[in-house]
Amino acid sequence: MNKISQTLCVALGCFLLSGGPALAQQKSLVNTTASSHAKLSGVDMNAVTWTQGFWADRFKVAQETMVPNIWNIYNDPKVSHAFRNFEIAAGMAEGEHKGPSFHDGDFYKVLESLAATYAVTKDPKLDQEMDRAIAVIAKVQQDDGYIYTPAIIQKKKNQGTGSAFQDKVNFEAYNLGHLMTAACVHYRATGKTSLLNVAKKATDFLYNYYKTASPELSRNAICPSHYMGTVEMYRTTQDPKYLELAQNLVNIHGTTDDGTDDNQDRIPLRKQTKAMGHAVRASYLYAGVADVYAETGDKSLMSVLDLMWDDVVYRKMYITGGLGSLYDGTSPDGTSYNPKDVQKIHQAFGRDYQLPNHTAHNETCANIGNVLWNYRMLKLTGDAKYADVMELALHNSVLSGISLKGTEFLYTNPLAQSDDLPFKQRWSKDRVGYIALSNCCPPNVVRTVAEVHNYAYSTSDKGIWFNLYGGNKLATKLKDGSDVKLTQETNYPWDGNIKVTLDQVPRKKKEFSMFLRIPGWADGAKLLVNGKPHNAKLTPGEYAEVSARWAKGDKIELVLPMEAKLIESNPLVEETRNQVAVKRGPVVYCIESVDMPKGQSIFNVTLPADIRFTPKLIKIENSDVMSLEGNAKLIKNQDWDKQLYREIAKDNQTVPVKLVPYYAWGNRGHAEMSVWMPLSR
Ligand SMILES: [Zn+2]
Repeated sequence: MNKISQTLCVALGCFLLSGGPALAQQKSLVNTTASSHAKLSGVDMNAVTWTQGFWADRFKVAQETMVPNIWNIYNDPKVSHAFRNFEIAAGMAEGEHKGPSFHDGDFYKVLESLAATYAVTKDPKLDQEMDRAIAVIAKVQQDDGYIYTPAIIQKKKNQGTGSAFQDKVNFEAYNLGHLMTAACVHYRATGKTSLLNVAKKATDFLYNYYKTASPELSRNAICPSHYMGTVEMYRTTQDPKYLELAQNLVNIHGTTDDGTDDNQDRIPLRKQTKAMGHAVRASYLYAGVADVYAETGDKSLMSVLDLMWDDVVYRKMYITGGLGSLYDGTSPDGTSYNPKDVQKIHQAFGRDYQLPNHTAHNETCANIGNVLWNYRMLKLTGDAKYADVMELALHNSVLSGISLKGTEFLYTNPLAQSDDLPFKQRWSKDRVGYIALSNCCPPNVVRTVAEVHNYAYSTSDKGIWFNLYGGNKLATKLKDGSDVKLTQETNYPWDGNIKVTLDQVPRKKKEFSMFLRIPGWADGAKLLVNGKPHNAKLTPGEYAEVSARWAKGDKIELVLPMEAKLIESNPLVEETRNQVAVKRGPVVYCIESVDMPKGQSIFNVTLPADIRFTPKLIKIENSDVMSLEGNAKLIKNQDWDKQLYREIAKDNQTVPVKLVPYYAWGNRGHAEMSVWMPLSR
């Protein structure tokens, strides 16, 4: 062991084994416990149990339906060839590789969803299924650690060399990144090192590869899940060469001549000032860079992250937290006469304020990438603005990617759907059971729903941070190792009353803080401690710190006002001029054709600025959903055939409307839908 790793080991408090540093014992999803530049740590993967309400309902569907369904799909070669590819590469089945080049990575994500669920449920069946699959994956891996089923199958058939990164638009590194993440999650959930050992060999392979490959070959591979993966491997194994690899990946990003804006590597990362290109790749990149910052404190990275965040959140993000407004486009658009400077981009950010609704791409993976990135930014800073975005995306554009039943998926998440639009886009606007061409989103959304409880709390030297609200029980430790248990009772986000009861406090009574997030939208929050109003500052968009020598049975009550509000967009967003969206708490609403009287179009509904909504709990697909009822205005139905412009029609007819949360749209059969509605005339 070299001097640096010895020093690191002392700093991390680990002890030496003959084979190298010990594996980290802390078991949080993104383990920043020993990260010197992260303000917050996560709680262990089994520390939070949803007990009631919104996320308990989603987790139950994940446990009972989403996870078993996605597992069955990925193990059934008639539907998905992902696992069969591993079996063929392992010499256990005959056949050809089938499916996209990121199929291995999809399977690792499915495996991660099982591991994340197992961390909470300890269902032995999940453990057995994972063991069975991991044994096959391990068999596929080459001696040098390389693992990529298309190349290994080709080599077996003497059709290729089996060497790495021959095609730079393949997803080999992306696959490896998901292997690393899944392996860390599997290790933390089960204590087993079977998948971690495969991931270690694969990370070693990548480390050695980047040491020796030419700059062109070592050009950063697309969709960099391996930035997050490599740092997480460093956190798990405490092997400093993995951090060196992650730093190297960041340093060479954008330094070769053949980079593209689509891939965020036309210019060196540290020189970038605008978010551009493919939105999944961008958000994964920024999340990975945030991970590197957590370990190194490299300020040049934080300044890029700040620029990207401002650009995305103030100019490029949808009201639903969705990212990536364009199916296809060009970059830069119109800033140069040199055709060489204009590059094609796809599934990408548009220009500032270019946020179309019908044709919005908003890939589910990009919206998840937004969560991954903002969660990491939150950990670095403890700044609630990141939790606001994370909550927004989770409750809207992430959940819209999966049906309430948990078995159908959307690849894109538009904010409007009209059957009159006279063209079809590439991806279905009805959820489907399997997205054959691009199945990256379904396993991603399933693992995300199975992991939401990991985002709910953080800890710091000062105490416990409440990031997301929902009925749950928490059993964790303060930084000094003392146990704390608490119960959170709430029907959030349908209701803003949150009650926290301390069930266990440190035996040696000591002062510590509860940091309660006051969401950016929550004007007029109230806080009671043991029934008495508390004087903590309750500023929307900040954490309120409540410090005390807590005793068992102490109660905190937070009341967040949950009125439905009309929201307008910056006037530079052309597509939504003079329109409003309805938001209640973190939940964005939409209007659906199934709730309209026969013959009336949702696109004729206008909303008076003083509309009052009454919340009404309804069931859709057996799930509680808060609908909003109110009286809107209706434009007299007129035919737009062969008309592009006309004199305005009156909207003086009153019509009762029912709005449902955006994430729940399309769950009652095929429907037209819109988030934005014009203000009444
Ligand atoms: Zn996707």
